[in-house]
Amino acid sequence: VRIARYNGGRIGVVVADQIHDVTAAAGVDPAEWPPVGIVRTIASFETLRPKIEAAAKAAQGVPVSSVHLDTPIPWPHKLLALPGNFHAHRAEMAKRPDSAAKGAATAATETAGFFMKSNGSLSGASDAIRLPDRPGRDMHHECEIAIVIGRGGHNIARDRALEHIFGYSCLLDITMRGKEERVMRKSYDTFCPVGPWITTADEAGDPDTIAMRLWVNGELRQEAPTTDMIVGIREAIAMISAVTTLVPGDIIASGTMSGVGPIAPGDTVTIEVDRVGKMSVAVVADKVAAPA
Ligand code: MN
Repeated sequence: VRIARYNGGRIGVVVADQIHDVTAAAGVDPAEWPPVGIVRTIASFETLRPKIEAAAKAAQGVPVSSVHLDTPIPWPHKLLALPGNFHAHRAEMAKRPDSAAKGAATAATETAGFFMKSNGSLSGASDAIRLPDRPGRDMHHECEIAIVIGRGGHNIARDRALEHIFGYSCLLDITMRGKEERVMRKSYDTFCPVGPWITTADEAGDPDTIAMRLWVNGELRQEAPTTDMIVGIREAIAMISAVTTLVPGDIIASGTMSGVGPIAPGDTVTIEVDRVGKMSVAVVADKVAAPA
């Protein structure tokens, strides 16, 4: 099942190029604040699934291209991320004079653990990436897969980790390079586009045969399979849940592969994750606040 949030918090099931409204069946009130309805839907999905699938069949679809795709989980309990998690990317970052990873060995990733981005950085497939005005600073794209937790847990065993995954999305870990705290550099509004929807784990299939790729203005910049991850999906869930209890709706960003590079206003960034989805996101300059 491909589950989207759209048009201001409605819940839809995507079949081919059509989206079917299942908001009521999912038990979500789009006007609810804080917008945590989708977290409850994910937590109760096994129970809700027959109702949601029936509602999807009954509802008239509209073209996905005609709706505004919102970020699938706007208020997760946690937005976690792995640092550069592919061998070639560690090597390219170590060469940057402004990199905290300078001189770091590839093996460092295995012991580096995880970091967090602000939940406030989340945006959706139809939302533009708004770049702040920081002259001389590089704003980079990072192509990643989002792992969405379905069943929570503490100290989850590596061999049971896949049972805790609800699904997957495309995720762009937009990053300002520099020496400030990583959390700040990765937490600007819209620096974490996720989408275009969540594809449930059963539909995505074997996570070890998923490849992802990213284009800037149609030019391929990043591509790698999940098997090239230094810390794999199972290991990431085990490692993170040994520190902080995972709960439904938590998002884990996989870390990126080599080929990161700058983006600028006017660019279009396209990301594709096999059997999960594909989205193209516009890049614009953030508006400077008008004087009060
Ligand atoms: Mn990243």
